[in-house]
Amino acid sequence: EPLLSLSGVTASVEDKTILHGVNFAVNSGETHVLMGPNGAGKSTMGHVIMGDPVFTLTAGSIEFAGQDISELSCDKRSLAGIFMSFQAPVEIPGVPLSSFLRAVIAGRPGLEMKGKEFRRRVKELASALDMDTSYLNRELGVGFSGGEKKKMEMLQLLLLQPRLAILDETDSGLDVDALSVVSNGMELYRRTTGGSLVIITHNTRILEHVDVDRVHVMVNGQIVREDDASLIPWIDEHGFESFETPITAPA
Ligand code: ADP
Ligand code: MG
Ligand code: MG
Repeated sequence: EPLLSLSGVTASVEDKTILHGVNFAVNSGETHVLMGPNGAGKSTMGHVIMGDPVFTLTAGSIEFAGQDISELSCDKRSLAGIFMSFQAPVEIPGVPLSSFLRAVIAGRPGLEMKGKEFRRRVKELASALDMDTSYLNRELGVGFSGGEKKKMEMLQLLLLQPRLAILDETDSGLDVDALSVVSNGMELYRRTTGGSLVIITHNTRILEHVDVDRVHVMVNGQIVREDDASLIPWIDEHGFESFETPITAPA
């Protein structure tokens, strides 16, 4: 039984249907990549899995760890073990990163820890991410570079140890530093938690050091192709054009 499974997921925003009957499944410990042209609905799919109230599920269902989560709030899905990286990372002046991280894990079963243990754990993760520990005392996100924001995100991921992490890298170009942060973070997450990953990306360089199990191509709110990792270099070479052409029956 898959860890996550979407069946016929149809979702809309402001009466506009964005996802049209999406089927998608991820097993425990697997890494999946979701690719497709800009505007295809990839980020929307991530938000719909997460239960973002902006989107309405109009048909289909979402199961996670054997439970139908279609009607669950975003918070409940998060508690059940689903994590999604922020599209627009938060900036909260006056709140140190360490306090934010403390709040993030507060009240989570299995993650209770004493202050001393928490500080040790966060320092350990920061150093594994090659993050200067002085950042832990800096105001959340304020004046962080792209790479530093990614480190903050990865630190959160590694601290939370979700069963499923959805990383939406957005269309904005990540610099070389941010790329390696994400790549190292994903590797650490997989190695230390055995969790599943769904990576939404245009940038296949991010995947160079990652063992990818399955690749899904989304066009116009539908999954039009699913294959193994060999699809990645193919897409690098050919782009998405051939997927966008409507399929016509041979004469
Ligand atoms: P992708 O991540 O593949 O680039 P998105 O999921 O961001 O695609 O967007 C898919 C479509 O949904 C686009 O046409 C986009 O304009 C629309 N869309 C996404 N979010 C919203 C929203 N909050 N309100 C209105 N339209 C939206
Ligand atoms: Mg986009
Ligand atoms: Mg997107």
